[in-house]
Amino acid sequence: MDKMMILVIDGCAPEYLTEETAPDVYALARDLGFVKTVKSAIPSVTNVNHACILSGRFPEDTKVVGNYYYDPMTREEGFIEERGFMKAETILQAYKKAGKKTALLTVKGKVLGVYGEGADIGISVQTPEAGLLERLGLSAPPEVQSPESTRWIYEAALACVREEDPDLLYCTTNDFVFHHHGPGTPEAAEQIRWMNEYVRRIHEADPERRIYITADHGMNQKHRLINFQAMADRRGLRLYCLPPLKDRYIENHIYQEGGILYVFLENESQREGFLALAQSTPEVERVLASSQAAAEFHLPADRIGDYVMLAAVDCAFGEVEGERLVTDAVRTHGSLYEQEIPLWAIHPEESEEKYEYSKDVAAIAMRRKGK
Ligand SMILES: [Zn+2]
Repeated sequence: MDKMMILVIDGCAPEYLTEETAPDVYALARDLGFVKTVKSAIPSVTNVNHACILSGRFPEDTKVVGNYYYDPMTREEGFIEERGFMKAETILQAYKKAGKKTALLTVKGKVLGVYGEGADIGISVQTPEAGLLERLGLSAPPEVQSPESTRWIYEAALACVREEDPDLLYCTTNDFVFHHHGPGTPEAAEQIRWMNEYVRRIHEADPERRIYITADHGMNQKHRLINFQAMADRRGLRLYCLPPLKDRYIENHIYQEGGILYVFLENESQREGFLALAQSTPEVERVLASSQAAAEFHLPADRIGDYVMLAAVDCAFGEVEGERLVTDAVRTHGSLYEQEIPLWAIHPEESEEKYEYSKDVAAIAMRRKGK
C-alpha cells in the first residue's frame, strides 16, 4: 500500500479551488496527476461524505446518512459523534490491518470521534492532546470556528509527515469560512492560499507521496428558507422532519438549514395530504419515496424516513420562525446542487476517468491493496 494523503477541504465548492487560488498545487496536479471535478455522495453533507471517502463506499454500506439520527420506532434521537455508527471498513483500518501507520487530522472533533478507529495518530483542533502536540512541535490550536483553525491543521499535517511519516494521512478542515464567504472573497482566498502553501511543502518533504485533494460537499448561496415542519404542523399533518445537516456547530447553520430533508410520516392516512403539500410547495424540487431515493442515491432505505425531499437551487429547509424567510445571509449545502466537488491528484493510482465520486480514491486504493 502506497504512502498517501487524502485532504478533504470542508465545503470546498469547485469555484473556490482554482489555478488562480492555488497555483502551486494546481501546477503539481496538472504535471503529476490531474485536476477534475467529481461527485459527492447525497446528502451533500459532511458526516455522510467522510464515511464514503474513508470507506470507498456509498451510504447504503456505511449506514451514515447524516449528522443526526432518529429512530421512528423508539423515537430515540441524537447527534452522531462517537464510534459505532459507521458500518463499513475504513481505509484507516485497512492500512492498519496491513501493518501500516495511519493518521487522522481534523478540525472538528467528531470526525475523530466517529471515524478514529484505525488511526495511530489522531489530532483534532477541538480536543488536542498536549503530549502529541509537543512531540510534533505544534503550538496550542486556535478556536474551531475560526479561519486560523484551517491553517493550524495544515501545519499539523506538515509536521506529521515530517516527524511521523504515516503511510496514510487523512486530513480535514471545517467549513466555517465557506459558510460565510463565497468564492472570490479575500477570506475564502486565504483558506485556499494556506492549502496551496502547506500541500506544496508536504509534497516537497515527501515527493513520492500520493496526494488527493477533494471536498466533502460544495456550498451555495440560498435566498429562500422554508420551515416544512411548521407548514405541516399548521395543516394538521403529523410528521417528523429530520435535516441530515442538523449539528451542534450552530454558527454554520443558524437555522439547521440545508437542501435536503428526511420526512417520517406518523399517520399513514395522511400520506396523500403530505404529498399534496410537498408537491405544491415551490421550494421543494423533488419528493422521493425512500425506496426511490435509496435506489437513486445508494442510501439505506430504512434510515431515511418515508420520503426524501430535495430543495430547489436557491432554497433550503430550515427551522426559521414561521414558515418562510427570505435572506441574503445563508450559504449552505445538502442538495443535488452541492454535489459537484473538486478532485486534484498528485501521483494518483489510476487515470482520471476512473474517479467519478470522491469515494473512488479509497475504493481504488482498497481494491488494489496487497497487490
Ligand atoms: Zn462539510
